Amino acid sequence: AELWQSVPLAPPDSIFKLTATYKADTFPQKVNLGVGAYRDDDNKPWVLPVIKKATQILLNDDKLDHEYLPITGLPEFTSAAAKLILGANSPAIAEGRVSSVQTISGTGANHLGALFLSRFYGWDAEKKVYLSNPTWANHQAIFRNVGIEPVDYPYYDPTTIGLDYKGFIKSLETAPPRSVFLLHACAHNPTGVDPTQEQWKAIADVMLAKNHYAFFDCAYQGFASGDLDNDAWAVRHFVDRAVPMLVCQSFAKNAGLYGERVGALHVVAPSAEGANRVKSQLSVLQRSEISNPPSHGARLVSLVLNDPGLFEEWKRDIRTMAGRIIEMRKELHRLLTEELKNPRNWDHILNQIGMFSFTGISPDQSKALIEKAHIYLTANGRISMAGLNSHNVRYFAENLDKVTR
Ligand code: PMP
Repeated sequence: AELWQSVPLAPPDSIFKLTATYKADTFPQKVNLGVGAYRDDDNKPWVLPVIKKATQILLNDDKLDHEYLPITGLPEFTSAAAKLILGANSPAIAEGRVSSVQTISGTGANHLGALFLSRFYGWDAEKKVYLSNPTWANHQAIFRNVGIEPVDYPYYDPTTIGLDYKGFIKSLETAPPRSVFLLHACAHNPTGVDPTQEQWKAIADVMLAKNHYAFFDCAYQGFASGDLDNDAWAVRHFVDRAVPMLVCQSFAKNAGLYGERVGALHVVAPSAEGANRVKSQLSVLQRSEISNPPSHGARLVSLVLNDPGLFEEWKRDIRTMAGRIIEMRKELHRLLTEELKNPRNWDHILNQIGMFSFTGISPDQSKALIEKAHIYLTANGRISMAGLNSHNVRYFAENLDKVTR
């Protein structure tokens, strides 16, 4: 038989396929609410002004070259990134208990974290990871790739379009001790539903009692509330409480550096000695996979994080993005309830947080929006709020109103 004949043809990635269909559509009022990338009010990708400035600084720096970075990445970047997520005064950092490695954005951090656990966690039985139902679709594939079987924990309650808090806690309580739970640090993808601080505290209580491991994925720090510290609250609380954990960090969304692939993995260990061992093995794993991470994006973020003036400008840019998204939530809610007098309750649009909103509409209603109105969204009814703007929010609200009556 011909070579590769037994290779099954894989389906295209559903979210990137949706974007391609949107691009090919010639309808003037088409709307893309699929992909999770920020757009400005004119539906254009937004290069953050602070990133433009940092790029100019790099261009004018004639001492820079294209040599390899260290295996674990640009040290000024990884140390500043650790402070950003764990807090500038984090005792864990001061005590040398954090192993930080630069990764290929958040995806690479998830992969390296999963690979590290797969090799070194000291599994009692089968390798399993508990993922929220639903979660970012890539999580399943990332863990399967390294021989860790994903299992679901209840998270979203379709009847309230909110958190299934009881189901979540029960799953933590009934999982075998030392289970690994993946937690979205903030702005849960795809639901936009986060636990409250009180709920996070209770989740930490159970995780400590059962000696579970927290695998935090933080892809939206600053994007949720517009405040970097606020959005890192859960991660920092878990470090304070000494829940065993790691955190994956992405600068794709909050710095608008999607294609530059800037991220980091931070493993918090019980001691500095433990952290050194961990870092040595992360370095060995990284060497065989990518040898050295890419330099350009890390240099940009390092400039922004390490310069107080640029850091303030970045915070302003983040508030611009988060603020526009929050405005769109308010406007969509207002149009649906006050102007169009849609009979459903749409309060979840206001209460959900971050880039995405779970509208609560059915797969058939999503399909109708695509086919009848050229409004592109995933079948689960998730919309990227960043795809809405002052020019198209009314068109979207009117069509959402139509399909839900
Ligand atoms: N985790 C979650 C939950 C995400 O939504 C994303 C982005 N879609 C990522 C990780 C990683 O994205 P990136 O690799 O572009 O940083």
